[in-house]
Amino acid sequence: MVSLEKEALVIPKVSELMISSEKVAHVQVGNPLEHALLVLVKTGYSSIPVLDPTFKFKGVISKSKILEETLGIEEFELNRLSDIQVKEVMDKDFPYLHHEDSMIDALHKLIDFPFVCVIDDDGEFDGIVTRRTILKQFSKHYHETFKWV
Ligand code: AMP
Repeated sequence: MVSLEKEALVIPKVSELMISSEKVAHVQVGNPLEHALLVLVKTGYSSIPVLDPTFKFKGVISKSKILEETLGIEEFELNRLSDIQVKEVMDKDFPYLHHEDSMIDALHKLIDFPFVCVIDDDGEFDGIVTRRTILKQFSKHYHETFKWV
């Protein structure tokens, strides 16, 4: 096992690592599931943030949650998707981060989730931090520290 030198790793803040909200696909609480599924399929993501009309972070909606809702007794009933709103099935118990949190705070939360939302003091959505970003940071640090590997 190799030990990383503590001093060598400059730990960035969440604000330096996040993908800002303009570049993040999202849906609104009042959108029908049909629209959410369309956005998820078009973007290729398995889950995206859910916001309210004032841009506050409210939860996360995923393809698997939507598919669960379409499951009838014997078959998938896709016509149900226009009658159900995102807020009825979204996952509300989702962690979030603040700008001034550190990469290590993000790392802990990203163990169980593929991305974590970043919100400001009023709960307004500012962006996301993804597992890929954190892994890239550690990979960069590793190669800079052990250049010969
Ligand atoms: P990654 O670590 O890049 O694979 O991203 C992990 C997850 O974050 C993806 O599966 C999506 O659910 C979410 N994600 C990443 N980038 C975006 C984006 N631009 N808009 C919405 N969700 C995203």
